[in-house]
Amino acid sequence: MISTGYHHIFAVDLRTNYDVIVIGAGPVGCAAAQACAEGGLSTLLIEEHGTIGYPVQCAGLLSVRAFKECRVGPDSVLHTVCGAHIISGDKKLSFQTEETRAYVVDRMLLDQEMGQKAVAAGCDILIKSYARLISSTMVYCSGAMGSHSFRAKIIIAADGPKSAIARSKGLSRPRAILSGLQCDIRHDMDPSCVEIYPNSSDDFFGWIIPTGSGRARAGLAGLSDVAKRFQTFMKPYQQSCSHFVAGAIPIGVIEKTYADHTLITGDAAGFAKPTSGGGVYTGVRSARHAADTALWACEQDRFDALTLSRYEKSWKHDFGRELDLGYHLFTLRKHVRKEDINYFLKYAQNASFIHLIEEQGDMDRPSQLLKKMIFSPVIARTVASSIAGRFHHRIS
Ligand SMILES: Cc1cc2nc3c(=O)[nH]c(=O)nc-3n(C[C@H](O)[C@H](O)[C@H](O)COP(=O)(O)OP(=O)(O)OC[C@H]3O[C@@H](n4cnc5c(N)ncnc54)[C@H](O)[C@@H]3O)c2cc1C
Repeated sequence: MISTGYHHIFAVDLRTNYDVIVIGAGPVGCAAAQACAEGGLSTLLIEEHGTIGYPVQCAGLLSVRAFKECRVGPDSVLHTVCGAHIISGDKKLSFQTEETRAYVVDRMLLDQEMGQKAVAAGCDILIKSYARLISSTMVYCSGAMGSHSFRAKIIIAADGPKSAIARSKGLSRPRAILSGLQCDIRHDMDPSCVEIYPNSSDDFFGWIIPTGSGRARAGLAGLSDVAKRFQTFMKPYQQSCSHFVAGAIPIGVIEKTYADHTLITGDAAGFAKPTSGGGVYTGVRSARHAADTALWACEQDRFDALTLSRYEKSWKHDFGRELDLGYHLFTLRKHVRKEDINYFLKYAQNASFIHLIEEQGDMDRPSQLLKKMIFSPVIARTVASSIAGRFHHRIS
């Protein structure tokens, strides 16, 4: 898997002191470790599992921008999509463009390529080792490679939604944790579009993502009753279900993403987008901000919380507003009922509305589209008609 020398993996010749230790070799940890090593910092990446990227807990849908942000070649790409069908019962609203809007990837291959790039940049890596903090600068690892202690000036926590590192620093938890369930199915669908099922989950949505050759990944996420809803959603496909995946999606950024000697990135900080559950784009962006801050702090030779607060300023400047807006929409979602969605899908079938979404839709930065929607007379009419239709239905 990692081809750049077995000594990195099997804990031979590792130092005991590093500039940076990155905990967790998901896409975020690999991106952070690569950027730190490329910047000339001595870097150790620690992963609890024996294989990077496994088990997979992802639908693997990445916008073109998110995929570029991962800086990998095309090997992990399984399929491309250029639009979406939003489906509720017999109602369907479709958006489709000429150009590729997103890639469907094999997450294990993607994560492994990112891990290889980190190693190629000069980072040491230790797999099958669980890491925990024993002081602000000391990390203790134990696992199949034996027990080791390492010292670092900066610890980058990229240890996923449950982040034991963030907890051990006394930092808050993400505001909500969605449960996501998914499996592979056979599905006769338009292979160029993802299917979104807003009514399959009361507080989020369901998805079917084509992976090519008549197969797809189908899943849903929500706050409660997820297993029951998933069973209902999967009923038409139960004969072909395989490769079950269950995972947590943290929504709502933790209150503080830095502490003395520590930066919290990716899912560990609750950076998944509250409108889609996608966490790779914001997570990998956060990894780059963390690496920039680590480089700057090493230049200053200062590692206190105040110095490292620069990290929080930079990710907030980059995508903080998008996550805030997304969180507001996520909380509103709970108040939207099945009937409201059906009315909206009925009244939204007009060319100008569809054209606006096709032109301006952006999986990673939806605020631009929302701004345009708020000031668009077409949208105002669509929303007004759907509310009026719903109201008329209630009183008749
Ligand atoms: C069902 C589902 C579908 C999803 N679909 C999409 C999608 O289509 N697109 C998208 O962008 N996002 C999606 N996501 C979210 C996406 O998977 C995450 O946002 C992304 O993986 C976050 O990356 P990360 O590196 O922060 O964390 P992770 O990928 O969770 O990686 C954390 C790593 O840290 C390791 N680790 C944890 N603790 C320790 C420790 N103490 N010591 C050593 N190692 C440790 C773990 O083993 C793991 O490898 C989905 C999530 C779920 C659950």
